[in-house]
Amino acid sequence: MLKKFNKILVLFIVVFYVSLSLSFAKERKIKPVELKKISKNLYEILGGQGAQGGLYIGDNGVLVIDAKMTKNSVDAVIKKIKELTDNPIKYLINTHSDSDHVRGNQYFPKTVTFIAHNNCRKDFFHAKRNGEPSIWSKPDLVPFIPSITFKNKMNIYLDSRKIELWYFGIGHTAGDIVVYFSEEKTAFIGDQIFLEIPQLIHSYKGGNSFEHVKTLTNMLKTLDAEKFCSGHSKIADRKTIKNHIDQMRKYQQKVKTLIKKGKTLEEILKEFKENEARLINAIYKDLE
Ligand SMILES: [Zn+2]
Repeated sequence: MLKKFNKILVLFIVVFYVSLSLSFAKERKIKPVELKKISKNLYEILGGQGAQGGLYIGDNGVLVIDAKMTKNSVDAVIKKIKELTDNPIKYLINTHSDSDHVRGNQYFPKTVTFIAHNNCRKDFFHAKRNGEPSIWSKPDLVPFIPSITFKNKMNIYLDSRKIELWYFGIGHTAGDIVVYFSEEKTAFIGDQIFLEIPQLIHSYKGGNSFEHVKTLTNMLKTLDAEKFCSGHSKIADRKTIKNHIDQMRKYQQKVKTLIKKGKTLEEILKEFKENEARLINAIYKDLE
């Protein structure tokens, strides 16, 4: 009896410590929100829960790129903005529909105008991957869904300052855009590049790895940008984007060659690293 009790006690202590250390690990992972200056009025929004974003402070209004995920993180972003300016947040641009970029929309003031690509707005209503309805079908959330959308190109004038919104095509999803600040030669490209992990391609949202290569090539050709800020990586230069495109082509070529040799998807996956499996799956699907 006593033995059994001891066993349960040991088990209880183990479970307690494991869950405690897990919760610490989770807390440690979330860095505080930080506004990192790029130029006089342009900032990168780092830290918090959710993707990295951007901030432009105009003479009479503020423009934010991407929204974080939680109320805490949005409040922290708004507090940091208030330390820099009393100007109200006028616009929030969603670079695409992934929840780490849009979930926080609902914690911004209702007076903000939300802007995104046509396909991104559609994705707000897309059922979740497990089939559950999207949270954005709730009537209370209507004011936080992009109300202005575009197809290929749109300019926003924040007072006299022109901010360019570009759509270069399908890639990570079917609705990823680029927010371009020509004076600073700085582009905010959302999740159209991952540098620390293999590129994510969301096939279920219309993403396509071959189109991704074309889209990024098109972006480099069209914009004279020198800095590329993204959702999860450090600021990239043109050479880094070119290398990324080459790397994608190599992945695609290798998958093509293996298919030609008659290999199955399972056999193909064995030729790559474990963390490349998602991308290889997407490339395989694109080739089918
Ligand atoms: Zn993201």
